[in-house]
Amino acid sequence: MLDDLDGLVSAESPSSDPVALRACRSVLEDIGTRLLGKRPTVLPGADSPGGDGTPGGLLWRLGPAGRPPVLLVGHLDTVWPLGTLRHRPFDVRESRATGPGVFDMKAGLVQGLHALAALHATTGAYPSVAFLVTTDEEVGSPLGGPVVTQWAEESRAALVLEGAADGGALKHARKGWSFYDISVAGRAAHAGLDPHQGRNALVDLAGLVVRLDRLASADGETTVTPTMAAAGTTQNTVPDRAHVTIDVRAPDSAAQRGLDAALRQLVAETAELPYEISGGINRPPLEEAHAREVLGLAHAAFDRLGLRWPGSARVGGVSDGNLCAAAGTPTLDGLGAVGGGAHADHEWTDIARMPERAALVGQLTADLDSRPRPA
Ligand SMILES: [Zn+2]
Repeated sequence: MLDDLDGLVSAESPSSDPVALRACRSVLEDIGTRLLGKRPTVLPGADSPGGDGTPGGLLWRLGPAGRPPVLLVGHLDTVWPLGTLRHRPFDVRESRATGPGVFDMKAGLVQGLHALAALHATTGAYPSVAFLVTTDEEVGSPLGGPVVTQWAEESRAALVLEGAADGGALKHARKGWSFYDISVAGRAAHAGLDPHQGRNALVDLAGLVVRLDRLASADGETTVTPTMAAAGTTQNTVPDRAHVTIDVRAPDSAAQRGLDAALRQLVAETAELPYEISGGINRPPLEEAHAREVLGLAHAAFDRLGLRWPGSARVGGVSDGNLCAAAGTPTLDGLGAVGGGAHADHEWTDIARMPERAALVGQLTADLDSRPRPA
């Protein structure tokens, strides 16, 4: 697993670089083909004739085709720009592996592939499995999202190979994520000669931003965070344009939809100048009810494997697991690497825990394959 992790981390794969993504995809294709004895289907990309579109992901469909598969989901893109390897190459010290994407989530992919290979080696056959790897999760899955949803709808359950929460805890719930870009249109004028001729878009937007606060819930469960703003053209011009981006997190679908309506209403009531809202709900929440069945099986699997139960957590970040849950599919997330520092320079994976995580994924896949999907 360590050799494969080295190979995969050493092929940089920023979401925005199609050439690098394609190269990393072929490294993963070789690793998976060697381990599983079968070439994957290369999924359609947003490829243009110039080759500057996002390449499609990979899918290994294994085992009996007549039965709904257990879906294993991951992504090969990372948030790290090309060249990160030069100052932070793949490295192992004691039981810590470091390098861009080592925790989010290349170790999870390696563990998942080895889990299936080991299952085949022990039983002589594959359970019904779909191993799906996307290429644009870190930018909101514009290409991979619909594919994840489609496979989730057809699957027995979804196991998401994203990195674990602290200490290896599984992720039984994720908040939902919405984002908005609100822009206000005013009228430009010279700030010294005739300021009264102008309509100040910045002042109008500022009034709106301070009121957005009241949409967040007092207990901190639902958050509304203005994140980026811009206005104006020069130092002495009344700004004719201003815009702000808003990040919204909500614990359940009802809260997420309620907040979407409340935000639109607040803007309509507050803005005095013409405005536009783009964006909306991006990922619905992964709610605890979606995870309950697989979480119970995971608990039993830890016992059977003689491993200490690491607990499970609800987290604020989103993943493609949100999409699996939204498809009504039993879903458990955080089944990938034990480590930490996702999206941070100190990102690391505990390599001593890689075998147990692979064993867990293998056990869960086999268990789910042998159980009918609950009505
Ligand atoms: Zn990830």
